[in-house]
Amino acid sequence: MTPPSEVQERYSGAVMNTFGPPALALARGEGAHVWDTDGKEYVDLLAGIAVNALGHAHPALVEAVTAQLSTLGHVSNFFATEPQVTLAERLLGLLGWTDGRVFFSNSGTEANEAALKLTRRTGRTRLIAAEGSFHGRTMGALALTSKAAYREPFQPLPGDVTFVPYDDVAALEAAVDDTVAAVVLEPMQGEAGVIVPSPDYLAAAQRIARSHGALLWLDEVQTGIARTGAWFAHQLLDGIEPDVVTLAKGLGGGIPIGATVARGEAATLLQPGNHGTTFGGNPVATAAALAVLDTIESDDLLGATLARGDQLAGLLAKQAGIVEVAGAGLMRGVELDGPYAVQAVAAGREAGFILNATGPSRLRFVPPLVITESDLDALDAALPAILDTARAQEASS
Ligand SMILES: *Cc1c(COP(=O)(O)O)cnc(C)c1O
Repeated sequence: MTPPSEVQERYSGAVMNTFGPPALALARGEGAHVWDTDGKEYVDLLAGIAVNALGHAHPALVEAVTAQLSTLGHVSNFFATEPQVTLAERLLGLLGWTDGRVFFSNSGTEANEAALKLTRRTGRTRLIAAEGSFHGRTMGALALTSKAAYREPFQPLPGDVTFVPYDDVAALEAAVDDTVAAVVLEPMQGEAGVIVPSPDYLAAAQRIARSHGALLWLDEVQTGIARTGAWFAHQLLDGIEPDVVTLAKGLGGGIPIGATVARGEAATLLQPGNHGTTFGGNPVATAAALAVLDTIESDDLLGATLARGDQLAGLLAKQAGIVEVAGAGLMRGVELDGPYAVQAVAAGREAGFILNATGPSRLRFVPPLVITESDLDALDAALPAILDTARAQEASS
């Protein structure tokens, strides 16, 4: 094992211990590669948790942020700026919504917090969320997040949330009635390890929500912005028309931004005074997001995500020890044949790959959308030894 770097040594004396000790101290990045403070290079298959859509230090993002910051960096929401309005229009266009509106914030949890407040304005308070869900860590978003370890230290949470098993239509039928404000679902559960529901699940959720006058709110914080090979994961399916979509992670390519997008009546539920933010929709963040969207279009990163996603799924599926590959595009989860995912992340690091475990036997791959064929060839070549080392370490522990 490599000893902790000087930055890691200083970390615990200055930074709150909410994340546990950091695995590495990183110094710079380029494309799908990062370098630590000792100069060691890694292929990044995590992308800051599905955030760095354009990889690291992409010239288009650097240019957009630099140009905007040297023109007008922040003004508050007392004023409009051109990048903010253009980004809202672009997101509505990508969703195909002619009657939508956007609220900008700075993160996924805030995008969900705004959506949660929006649902309260329906006059109903009950929400239906799924077991295995992750919607964020602020108190409202946490109320929708199922994991007991995240919730229990903070009870009581803002209430009236019913959890149903994910991908279980009968459970939804039984839970949703005319008191429900919204059904909140991830199109694929990201933090749970990329869990993909049956192809007709979202359609059933939509039908059930509609029949009770409840909103369908899809949390696309992780799945959105080309991650799955479509602009939004629900667009991989036919006929899904959510009322509310929340976005963040990939949207700013690493510059913090969240967006709550609603259409129809849901778009007018939040009225002046109901919600606000100082930073949300700031010109730098919205200019960054526009650069991300422009680059996805100009460089056909939707096509690249599909091609590299197929390559990734193919190389994972043929590895000894991987028993299941799930997901779409460049969002893939794999189930190992034993509880050695954490050891695989450590062995990957030694071998020069940033991997991610979402559970004892589950790995998640969410690399930059610009990852190259040869980066994935390198992963293909290295994985057998990484998994062998991890399995052996787990067996001897
Ligand atoms: C990451 C994530 C969030 C929370 O986003 P933050 O920016 O960490 O607050 C919410 N929902 C989903 C689906 C996520 O993956």
